[in-house]
Amino acid sequence: MEGARVVRAPRGTQRSAQTWGAEAALRMLQNNLDPEVAERPDDLVVYGGSGKAARDWRCFDAIVETLRTMGPEDTLLVQSGKPVGVMRTHDLAPRVLIANANVVPKWATPEYFRELEDLGLTMYGQMTAGSWIYIGTQGILQGTYATFAEVAAQHFGGTLAGRWVLTAGLGGMGGAQPLAITGNGGAALCIEVDPWRAQRRHEHGYLDEIADSLDDGLARVQAAARDNRALSVAVVANAADVLPELAARGVVPDVVTDQTSAHDALNGYVPHGMSLDEAVELRRTKPSEYVERAQQSMAVHCTAMLDLQRAGAVVFDYGNGLRGQARDAGVADAFGYPGFVVAYIRPLFARGAGPFRWACLSGDPADLAATDDAVLAAFPDDDLLQRWVRFAREKVKGQGLPSRICWLGYGERHVAGAAFDDLVARGVVTAPVVIGRDHLDAGSVASPERETEGMRDGSDAIADWPLLNAMLNTASGASWVSIHHGGGVGIGKSIHAGVVVVAEGTAESRRRLELVLTNDPGSGVIRHADAGYDIALETAHNVGVRMPLEPGTHGPAWQQ
Ligand code: NAD
Repeated sequence: MEGARVVRAPRGTQRSAQTWGAEAALRMLQNNLDPEVAERPDDLVVYGGSGKAARDWRCFDAIVETLRTMGPEDTLLVQSGKPVGVMRTHDLAPRVLIANANVVPKWATPEYFRELEDLGLTMYGQMTAGSWIYIGTQGILQGTYATFAEVAAQHFGGTLAGRWVLTAGLGGMGGAQPLAITGNGGAALCIEVDPWRAQRRHEHGYLDEIADSLDDGLARVQAAARDNRALSVAVVANAADVLPELAARGVVPDVVTDQTSAHDALNGYVPHGMSLDEAVELRRTKPSEYVERAQQSMAVHCTAMLDLQRAGAVVFDYGNGLRGQARDAGVADAFGYPGFVVAYIRPLFARGAGPFRWACLSGDPADLAATDDAVLAAFPDDDLLQRWVRFAREKVKGQGLPSRICWLGYGERHVAGAAFDDLVARGVVTAPVVIGRDHLDAGSVASPERETEGMRDGSDAIADWPLLNAMLNTASGASWVSIHHGGGVGIGKSIHAGVVVVAEGTAESRRRLELVLTNDPGSGVIRHADAGYDIALETAHNVGVRMPLEPGTHGPAWQQ
């Protein structure tokens, strides 16, 4: 019966598939649906609202059966969560090729996509749900940690110690903020309108304390900053009340951002001037009045952020759409502070830095510890990485197969891959290690409202890059490769690609790792060099990434 199944990846050194490539895909598909990992495993939903691992349970069973029985030179084709064919390729080819949720652009609307879904013709794969490399909330925490680390690097000499950050929203993703801030040494004042959300973050160890009032919270956080103590404190209140209040008092945080669900004026953002219960009631009874009041509140909220920026705070938007809502509600200079990708992530992308995650197929935490040690040993001078891995070891609660994520750049990822391969070859790590990444990476995504917002040459919506990235990874011998549409920001708004490669401890896997983990971030360097980013041009030049046309000869960035 559907809905009554519990899926969990097998552990250990014995495989049921003919190759470790197929076995890895099998275990990672199952791991995505582990109740410890997935949000709604009964519906095959892994994360991100409706991001699924397979189209339905029949498809899931057929994928599992195929992965177990296919030969060492076979490649399984998956069309939006449904296994549609097994083709003879060769031993270095990917064992699985996945295309999820792709629709011809003119028809790529959420409404039409839903119709196609209802007909059973497609599936929404989000990013790592349908490409079988989701590892739980650690990914969100690390991305937030990396953002605040870059804030620290750009403005505060590399640490948030002695600084305090004001933010709002302690929901699914925003709840990672307090721990990411304290992980960077800072103090965090987090405004959350829903006491239950604040309580939950506290219980899960993401938030240190809940204050009784704004004054109480402010005092605790300012004292912590004064003493260079890392501390996170929540205040249960509405951000559209608190931020103008602080601006009026002349209280200026070092950093201000926001992760309320501002992208959704009806179901996300809570208007000020009413209690949470009143807001819930208004949403139910008078939705259009609710939206109007939410937008007006967002205008107040955004205006206060602009005021705090003028007063000296570092202010950035955290991809939640607050600026757009405020602009629509009449705040002419709503876009006066930058988005986080433009300000903090793009410089990392431009040198090929991005997410690098791995999972130990043995299921043995000792294997994860050995890989953590290997990464720490391989990059002794990378302070951020050293801090993050030690922090994650201590603070992150594992979900599913033992896994880790960090950010590594071009020229670094294949070093980590080789180190893992060596550990497997020597038997220090007892079974192969799966290495993959989110689709949010330097060369693998076109998403004009997020990752590729405001590209220097205007190439925000050019989607050739993720397609080239996927083809390159296929040609380089990845274990599985995927091309998706709509992840992160919704149908019609993004095209992106995923890749996974397995460290098996063999000469063959060593070669695959070297090629994939060099070329994948290399495509990000090329993408950003082509768009005219100096860091990417320097990186490409320094490491000898070959570009047939001298960057600088094409496109508007070069015609100024
Ligand atoms: P969520 O809906 O789970 O949480 C939002 C939280 O904000 C809730 O806890 C809610 O009670 C609180 N809230 C709403 N209105 C408020 C107000 N006026 N004052 C104080 N608190 C208020 O959402 P989430 O998953 O945490 O994501 C938050 C937002 O951040 C989303 O818009 C998301 O798209 C965005 N985001 C973007 C990126 C990115 O661009 N990469 C990353 C993380 C989050």
